[in-house]
Amino acid sequence: MKAKPTPDQEIKAFMKGLKKRNPGETEFQQAVHEVVETIIPFVSENTKYRDAYILERMTEPDRIITFRVTWEDDNGRIHADRAWRVQFNNSIGPYKGGLRFHPSVTQSVLKFLGFEQVLKNSLTGLPMGGAKGGSNFNPKGKSDREVMRFCQSMMIELHRHIGEDTDVPAGDIGVGAREISYLFGQYKRLENRFAGILTGKGLSFGGSLVRKEATGYGAVYFMKHMLEHAGGEIRGKRAIVSGSGNVALYCMEKLIQLGAKVLTASDSSGFIHDPDGITREKLDWLIDLKEVRRGRIQEYAEHFGCKFVAGKTPWEVPADLAFPCATQNEIHLEDAAIMVKNGVMAIAEGANMPCTAEATEHFLEDDVLFGPAKAANAGGVAVSGLEQSQNQLRISWSREEVDQRLTTIMEDIHTKCVKYGTREGRPVDYKSGANIAGFVKVADAMLAYGV
Ligand code: GLU
Repeated sequence: MKAKPTPDQEIKAFMKGLKKRNPGETEFQQAVHEVVETIIPFVSENTKYRDAYILERMTEPDRIITFRVTWEDDNGRIHADRAWRVQFNNSIGPYKGGLRFHPSVTQSVLKFLGFEQVLKNSLTGLPMGGAKGGSNFNPKGKSDREVMRFCQSMMIELHRHIGEDTDVPAGDIGVGAREISYLFGQYKRLENRFAGILTGKGLSFGGSLVRKEATGYGAVYFMKHMLEHAGGEIRGKRAIVSGSGNVALYCMEKLIQLGAKVLTASDSSGFIHDPDGITREKLDWLIDLKEVRRGRIQEYAEHFGCKFVAGKTPWEVPADLAFPCATQNEIHLEDAAIMVKNGVMAIAEGANMPCTAEATEHFLEDDVLFGPAKAANAGGVAVSGLEQSQNQLRISWSREEVDQRLTTIMEDIHTKCVKYGTREGRPVDYKSGANIAGFVKVADAMLAYGV
């Protein structure tokens, strides 16, 4: 009789099949591997999931819509960019997830993001399935009118695939308030309907208070719970933050409010190191630089007279807490080794998959508290879910009310991770906890529906 395969052998076999079905899609393979590593040992003890091939089904998107976006630049030149909407899984609610505009966008990147979104949205406890979309269009250096024409052209295809009960996109890298507004305006023209078909909308047309701040605030709330669970606190800690977009800026704001010292910020050209700490006043200046003037981070260093390090990420700066809030795979094994050596005790991933598999492994082996993206950055999509609720009810909640709900959701996510990730004599394994808790809810729905 053939011996029962070990979980390690099962993981290898699973990944072999997945790679064969998704050739060359390295980001997607990385995201799935990181999840199956924890789920396969779990399903081999919970055989109902294995018998129904839930993991195989969950790692295949429901559908991918690929389309061309043609637009004209200010000089009259025609461009044809490629765009996608990956509708990954709608077992527990309508598809939900952001749109990313960045030259690095490929089908693989959007599949990884869509897959992560399924589990993340499940963790929020709200009825949202997972999706992701976007384009390789690069908004950097484009005029407002060029961005407008691109968004309008994109919506000409997208409008037929979305709807408040089918699929509700939002922002992500390169897609902020400006882009959502152009997209929403075009949907309204095409469909003659005013409906909550996007989140992250302007406050005057159905947007929610705290949506802009939610991902950054949520990452800090999650960090607070991890530290408190381990007997620590945020006050007095030194924090290194990467990025200077929406997630990073409001992560910094909440850190400053809670008494931490924020030392760094970055963009694709390098990072600034402010040893005195980014104060509330400096942050206001930075928010204006990034959100209004669309300037470069180097200007912060010039304005406040601190160091700018070109072409590097901030991980070499000694600190207690780290918040990678820029993009995927921004912390490599070498960075992780330096961070551990410098005494970083906890990480909350504000971006999606900012740590490589090797870096994550290093943090976990060294008992660094590791808040994975699908838990730590779920605050953004959670408030998107709250925006949908307000739209459906045709009401607007106050800032306090939304923030209170966000606080409770982040606390609940932490509790779920502790439930499934507690280990004897070691810190909570938040990575496994988030994967399993996210998986179980979606898997149970899939089981209930039958085949
Ligand atoms: N792009 C965000 C994320 O990665 C938010 C998605 C949403 O609000 O739908 O979770």
